[in-house]
Amino acid sequence: MWFGCYCLDLYCVNYADTAKFTQDSAGRLVDAVGHEFKGYPRQYTAETGTECRSRARKAGWLLRRDGTALCPLCRKKAAPSGA
Ligand SMILES: [Zn+2]
Repeated sequence: MWFGCYCLDLYCVNYADTAKFTQDSAGRLVDAVGHEFKGYPRQYTAETGTECRSRARKAGWLLRRDGTALCPLCRKKAAPSGA
């Protein structure tokens, strides 16, 4: 029995299955930003929601108060300074 397991599914606000995807040099299907086709949601699991969110942030996600999220790729674009 799993106890206190929390699972966070993260979709990037800028990702859509309907976007235009092209194959990159590694053979992956990616859109103009670099999102991998069907690469979302990204799942983070931990014992608590707080831990989940902290893992996602460490991976580069920007989690907003309104419940949306920006993936590491988009976040780099939005804040080139790295803030
Ligand atoms: Zn993104």
